[in-house]
Amino acid sequence: MKIAVLPGDGIGPEITAQAVRVLQTLSRDGLHIELETALVGGAAFDASGDPLPAATIAVCESADAILFGAVGGPQYDTLPRAQRPEQGLLRLRKHFDLFANLRPAIVYPELAHASTLRAEVVAGLDLLILRELTGDIYFGQPRGIRINEAGEREGFDTMRYSESEIRRIAHTAFQAARKRAGRVCSVDKANVLETTQLWRDVVTEVHQEYTDVALTHMYVDNAAMQLIRNPKQFDVIVTGNMFGDILSDEASMLTGSIGMLPSASLNARGFGLYEPIHGSAPDIAGKELANPLATILSTAMLLRYSLDQAGAADRIEAAVRQVLAKGLRTADIAQAGEATVGTRAMGDAVIAALG
Ligand code: NAD
Repeated sequence: MKIAVLPGDGIGPEITAQAVRVLQTLSRDGLHIELETALVGGAAFDASGDPLPAATIAVCESADAILFGAVGGPQYDTLPRAQRPEQGLLRLRKHFDLFANLRPAIVYPELAHASTLRAEVVAGLDLLILRELTGDIYFGQPRGIRINEAGEREGFDTMRYSESEIRRIAHTAFQAARKRAGRVCSVDKANVLETTQLWRDVVTEVHQEYTDVALTHMYVDNAAMQLIRNPKQFDVIVTGNMFGDILSDEASMLTGSIGMLPSASLNARGFGLYEPIHGSAPDIAGKELANPLATILSTAMLLRYSLDQAGAADRIEAAVRQVLAKGLRTADIAQAGEATVGTRAMGDAVIAALG
C-alpha cells in the first residue's frame, strides 16, 4: 500500500510531518505502507512554474491514496489563475474524478466549549456530511447573464443531476454508513425541485441493496434547522453539491475548532485525497503553532476508507481522544489560561498515545 504525501504550503509541511510520523510509527508496528512525497501548490510553482507538475501526478497515480496538507499564500495571490496554488488541488480532484466529499464533524467532549452552541447540544457529536462534488447547479449548462424579453438583465443557472451521478454518491453514502452507525439521511428539496425529486427516487432505489442501513429523507431547509437544534440525531447526511457546500460549513462550525476537522474526497474506485478542512494558515506558518490533529485524523480516514485498515484508523482516533482527555492543547483549542503545546509536541503526544 502506497501513500502519496503532498505537504504544500504554509503550515502544510509542519502538519503533514506529524501525520507522517504517526504513519511511520504504525508501519514499525507492522502496517505495510510506503510513503512518497511530492510538491504541490505554491511550493511546486516555485520549483517548476506549475502548481501540479506531471511528476506529482505520476506519484499520485502510483499510490493508493493521497495525503494532502494545504496550499496557498499571499505571495501567490497576484499570479494568473492557472498558476495559483489552489489549481493544484482543483486539478487533482478533476484528474482523479473525486466526486464524493466526506466531511466528519466531531465534537470531543473536552472541546465542547469551543462551539457557539450549548455544550450539551454538541458534546459527543459525530456526524459525517457526504457532499457530491462534481455535479449540480455549480456545473450545469446553460448558465449565464442575458437580457430578457423585458429588456433587463437576467441571471440563470441549471440544476442538473444524472441518474448515474446520484447512484454512485448513494453507494458511497450507504457504504460509509456501514462503517459507522448505519444510518443515512438524504437531504433534498424534492417538494420544489425536479432534480432533487430524481435524487430522492434514485437514493431510495439504491437503498434496496443496503437494507441493513436505515434511510430517511429530509428537506434541506429542515436539515439546516435540525443541524442547529439537535445535530446528534444524524449519522451520515448525503446531499448534492450546493446543499452540501452550505450544510458542511454549518456542521463544521458546530465544532468551533477548524484545526481538528479532517476530510476526504473519493472516486468510484475508493481512491481518495485526504486533507484537513483548513487552509495553509500563513499567519502562523513556521511558528510551531499549527494544530496537526486535523491532518492526523485525515490519515485515520485514509486508512479507513482507501486502505481498508479500520484497526489502524481506530488506533489513531483513540490516541487523539486520549491526548485531548489528558489536557494537551495547541493554542487554537485552548481556553484562556490553559497551557499549550506546539505542533511537534502534539505529534509526540499522539505517537506516545498509540501505545
Ligand atoms: P485558513 O484555514 O488557512 O486559516 C483561517 C484561520 O484559522 C487562521 O487564523 C489560521 O491561523 C487558523 N488555522 C487554520 N488551520 C489551523 C491549524 N491547523 N491550527 C491552528 N490554527 C489554524 O484560511 P485562510 O486564512 O482564509 O486562507 C489562508 C490560505 O489558505 C489562502 O491562501 C487560501 O487560499 C488557502 N486555503 C487552502 C485550502 C486548501 O489547501 N484546501 C483551503 C482553504 C484555504
